[in-house]
This record gives sequence, structure tokens and C-alpha cells, in this order.
Amino acid sequence: MSTGTPTGPRAGSRTDGLGLPPGALAAATARVMARCDELARLSSMSGGIERVYLSPEHARANRLAERWLREAGMATAQDAAGNLVGHLPGRDPDAPVLLLGSHLDTVRDAGRYDGIVGVLMAVEVVRLLGPRVRTWPFGLDVVAFWDEEGARFGKALLGSSALAGVWDPAWWDLRDADGVSLREAFTAFGLDPARVGEAARRPADLVGYLEAHIEQGPELDGAGEALGVVTSIAAARRWEIAVVGEARHAGGTPYDRRRDALVGASEAVLAVERICREEHHVVGTVGRLEAFPGAVNVVPGEVRLTLDLRGELDETRDATWARIGGELDALTGRRGLTWSATAVHDAPAVRCGPLFQDVLHAGIAAGGQGESPALFSRAGHDAMAVGRLTDVGMLFLRNPDGISHHPDEDVSAADVERGLGALAAAVLHLAHERSLV
Ligand SMILES: [Zn+2]
Repeated sequence: MSTGTPTGPRAGSRTDGLGLPPGALAAATARVMARCDELARLSSMSGGIERVYLSPEHARANRLAERWLREAGMATAQDAAGNLVGHLPGRDPDAPVLLLGSHLDTVRDAGRYDGIVGVLMAVEVVRLLGPRVRTWPFGLDVVAFWDEEGARFGKALLGSSALAGVWDPAWWDLRDADGVSLREAFTAFGLDPARVGEAARRPADLVGYLEAHIEQGPELDGAGEALGVVTSIAAARRWEIAVVGEARHAGGTPYDRRRDALVGASEAVLAVERICREEHHVVGTVGRLEAFPGAVNVVPGEVRLTLDLRGELDETRDATWARIGGELDALTGRRGLTWSATAVHDAPAVRCGPLFQDVLHAGIAAGGQGESPALFSRAGHDAMAVGRLTDVGMLFLRNPDGISHHPDEDVSAADVERGLGALAAAVLHLAHERSLV
């Protein structure tokens, strides 16, 4: 449920700073909130929200959003990967474009704002600034990405990877829970797998990418701040770790003869938490742990566990992994165990462009929030894939209690209005910067 409407002098100054007619931001906010509700009704599950890639809901959501993009004055097209794109040219139709957007797909039993609110805010920014764009040295594109979440085929950022030109042909054989391959689903949706490369943009055609998104964490809410600017999007390194000891009789093996892999692994889990708490902006999670042989009367001889480690900077994340490795050496040494790790995933953090961070801070300040917090994103976003192509910036909106990927996910209308003002002001700052060069 959305709550609150902005009142008082702050709302007025936001409108004045952008040179908009009175009430324009409030009306735009009302449309965003109503459309989040309207999209929430496009779902494949009863009693909840689920919209996955290349589904009937994908087609219906694109048709609906296409209407909204056209109302905002944009020409529209569905790209070769199923992303919906709206285009408004600047003064030169061949000039590069600034991308604004987020995603319209959801996880199962999702909230109604993750991704969606960013797409709808982008539409409103175009609607608010539209008449001025025709004098700018760049145009605006709104992109509604599909399959940011990876809910259907287990691989996230599909649409944004297509736009970034980093589509991996190995993905065609990914299958959903019903055994349908990505290639088959693509074709059934009316897309041509052979043409997916046509969704790719060229860096020279882009000014950059700006995305507004709910935080999906409690940091802004805890600090009492409506908006924040993302410094980097943390990427995970993941390992499968084996701790090996010796399986022996649970009754007959005295403690001083045991090489209990599960007790060692338990120490390792606690060490991960302790070390990550001590490190700055690193978070580590052991999400799975299996003991073998897994019998009630046998001292565990081997444990396999997973580790997901992510941080604001690759350097601190990797230094933390080195510390964890040292701790694993020490504790397995004490217990007569051995350990080994296999890396199963490794992606670099994506740093947001300094200019994009600056204009977002300036955009927030223009709305009267004052000093705005800078924070890193612990969750993945389309901006990670787009960041391989062009500079990116992300605006985070306060997410009450940090609840996301859940029906209780929320953002207030007051914060959406502040976010709209900040995003529009940031785009205006960019237009000013580009006009000077
Ligand atoms: Zn999202």
C-alpha cells in the first residue's frame, strides 16, 4: 500500500526548481502509483504478482506500457530481445540518447514496485521535460527491460545484456521449469533468436543510463532519508567449499580421535560472519551446507557449503576472501581437516559514473533534501549489464523496512514525488553539461 502525499514548502520548491507548472509533479506521481497498481493486475499467479520473460503477461505489460510511452510523446518499438523502448529525439535526430529505465518482469509472488516504479518514473520524466528535449544535444530513450530477475530461465539480466551486446549464445539452451528452452520461448513469443544482436546499442550512440529503483534494503529507511545515490553495484563471487575430515563411528570414536568436518564447517560459517562484520561494506553468506554421509550415527567426514561474498569494491571483497581463506587454513589445521574451494561465479562490481552520481546528488539537493546519502547496491540491477556499454547512474528510493521480493514491498507516494523531482533535475543537469561542451 502506498501512503502519504507530500505537503509543505518542499513540494513547492521542487516544482519551482524544475520550472514546471504547479501540481505537475503531484499529477505525475499519482500516475506512477496508479500504474504500479494497474501493472500488478497483469499476473500469471492468482492472489499474487508474477510476470516472467516471454510470457503472455510480458506481451500484455508491453502493450500497456507502450500506450503510456506514446502518451508521453515517444515513438515506441519492441527490441529484438523483447524490451520495450520509447524514443524522443533531441534537436538532431541522429544525436546520442540518454537511456532511462528499469525492468517490468518480476519474481514469483513479487511486490509491485521493484523495477516497475523506475520504468514509470522514467516515463513521467519524459512527459515532464518533453517539450524542452527538442532543443537538447541528446535525445531520451525509455527502456522497459525484461528478465532482470532471471525468474524463468535462472539467468538474470537477459534483456539488458542483449542491449549491452553481451548476449551469450549458450543461454539459448537454458530451460524453464516446464522444460521449454529459451530459444523455443523466444520463437513462441514472436521474436527471432537469430536477430537478438539487433537489440545491441553502440557506446557512441549513448550518453549514459539513469535508473531509479527502490533500495531493496533498509539503509535509507533507517537513516530517515527518502533518496540516495548509488556508488557501485556490488557483484558477487561465489564458491563451493569442501571441508574434508574422516567419517567414523559416532559412539566408538573419542573426541581426540575425531576429524569432524561438520564441526569444522560450523566454525567456518561463524568465521565468515565475524570477518565480514569487521570488514567495510562486505557481506558474506553461507546459504547451503550439506554433511556427508549424513547419517545420525556417523561423525561427518565431509561437508560441502556455499559462500556468496559481495562488496562495494572488488578489492575489499577479494581481500575479505583472502582473510576467510586464512581462517579456513587455521581452523582446519587445528582439527586435522582439509579444505578446498571451487569458484562458481565471479563478476566485477560496476561503479557508477562520477558525473552521473554528481547530477543525482544535485537533483536531490534541488528538491530540498540537502546532503544526500551515497550507498552501494547489494542487489543486482540492469545497470550492471548496461554499465558494460556506457556510464550508469542509479537513484535509490526509500523502501520501508527494506522489504522487497515480497507482496509487502512498498514505497510512499511522497518519496516517488521526491524521486521524480530529483531524476528530472538530474536529467536537466546533464542536458546543461552537454550543452556546454
Ligand atoms: Zn529490480
